[in-house]
Amino acid sequence: SAPLLAVRDLERHYPVTEGLLQREVGRIRAVDGVSFTVERGETLGLVGESGSGKSTTARTILGLETPTAGKIFFEGNDIDDLSGAAERAFQRRVQLVVQDPDEAFNPRMTVGEAVAEPLALHGMDDADRRRAIVTDLLERVGLAAADSERYPHEFSDGEKQRLAIARALVVDPDLLVADEPTSALDARVEAEILGLLADIREAYDVSILFISHNIDIVRRFCDRVAVMYLGELVETGPTDAVLSAPAHPYTRLLLDSVPSLDPTDRGLPEPLTDTVPDPADPPTGCRFHPRCRSVIQPDGVDLPTDTWRAVAAFRFTLDAEALPDGLDDTAAVRE
Ligand code: ATP
Ligand code: MG
Repeated sequence: SAPLLAVRDLERHYPVTEGLLQREVGRIRAVDGVSFTVERGETLGLVGESGSGKSTTARTILGLETPTAGKIFFEGNDIDDLSGAAERAFQRRVQLVVQDPDEAFNPRMTVGEAVAEPLALHGMDDADRRRAIVTDLLERVGLAAADSERYPHEFSDGEKQRLAIARALVVDPDLLVADEPTSALDARVEAEILGLLADIREAYDVSILFISHNIDIVRRFCDRVAVMYLGELVETGPTDAVLSAPAHPYTRLLLDSVPSLDPTDRGLPEPLTDTVPDPADPPTGCRFHPRCRSVIQPDGVDLPTDTWRAVAAFRFTLDAEALPDGLDDTAAVRE
């Protein structure tokens, strides 16, 4: 049967305009040809540095952005073709949890009202029933029924994220898109929220698209991982396979940039210091090649690395077939 979610050749470009006439002078290729699936019951990690296009991908899936090109399928149906009840069902069945829970809450609404709001929006008119569902859910996410009378500012950041998760869950979704849901939290609270999400995916059988810049959290939390760089996926596959033997040098760089949890490994993480290229003018060939430590010179060539990179970048525009090792510009996909 069709996967729960299938993203096919998705592009979201933002025009760069100039002058009073808003003449288009370029395009930021925020998402530039991305394909992946999320199966029922699965957690897929989408990982990459800041600016790689993770949130834009998420927002496009939720219908908050219009794709420049490409398609999104939910249970095999093109979401563009949905209307009426089918469209509302899609809007109910895919829910977003963002990094900053304050975005999800109106400071003047009690959290009980806020968590119940999606129920009313999706047609549940019975206020008593809404209240009963919300109190239940508050306890499920580790808060108290009485908390529903309180206001958002009375809660800690971790508690607010629990409330945001409750608000996303209240309409019984099949897919949670969690965009860095723990990035703003300290390590202890982060672990608590990850524990809660793990409980919830078990109890409610919900799939999760888990967006993170932290490959170590993805390792602990996700069944499969998709690694994103400058608008493209460089590698997709089962988490263990990808992280124990990364096929793409960018994945290796991400792995080397987090502290090892292995106590016998004394190597210090290598910080990601070099800058990410401009997404309005991405490098030709493999977009990672200007930062790649595995750029390999062909036999008989002996140039300083930077010079070779420049040559290689030029070469790719002429001959995309014959790329040396480490410069493969086709994403390595191991499904
Ligand atoms: P982060 O880890 O910082 O959240 P991200 O991977 O979520 O990063 P996006 O927010 O998707 O990245 O941004 C991808 C690129 O698109 C960035 O270069 C960003 O500046 C650009 N971008 C995002 N939204 C817009 C917009 N509305 N208009 C113009 N450019 C945008
Ligand atoms: Mg983001």
